[in-house]
Amino acid sequence: MEDKVLLKQAGYKLTTPRKTVLEFIKQGEHYSAKDIYEGLNGSLGLTTVYRTLELFVELSLVRALVLLDGTVLYEYVANKNHHHHLVCTLCGEICELDGCAVLSLEREIAKETSYQITNHALELYGICPQCQKF
Ligand SMILES: [Zn+2]
Ligand SMILES: [Zn+2]
Ligand SMILES: [Zn+2]
Repeated sequence: MEDKVLLKQAGYKLTTPRKTVLEFIKQGEHYSAKDIYEGLNGSLGLTTVYRTLELFVELSLVRALVLLDGTVLYEYVANKNHHHHLVCTLCGEICELDGCAVLSLEREIAKETSYQITNHALELYGICPQCQKF
């Protein structure tokens, strides 16, 4: 579904700030709110960027990824499959892992606990090959 249609269905308009943030986040992978703010050269206030991102997260257009060090990164997920990340703790590079390795574990836990599991997040941390050279 097109972003505009999705927003409209949820009762929101695709305003210029929303369009600007969407266009920015769609061109890459994982950005902090500050990355987006700086990338837009201050054409939007930081608060507007945060508020817009929050709305997109609510509408499931964007996912907020909270790293172990507390960094929050946003990624456009409307056209992406469920995936996990490998994060380099030295340079911050993020590698996307295709598919899901924990689905069977999820099923097992659901059975054991009688929970209806609706979601999960898994990030792996390490040192990338590039950083290992130093
Ligand atoms: Zn690295
Ligand atoms: Zn990702
Ligand atoms: Zn998964």
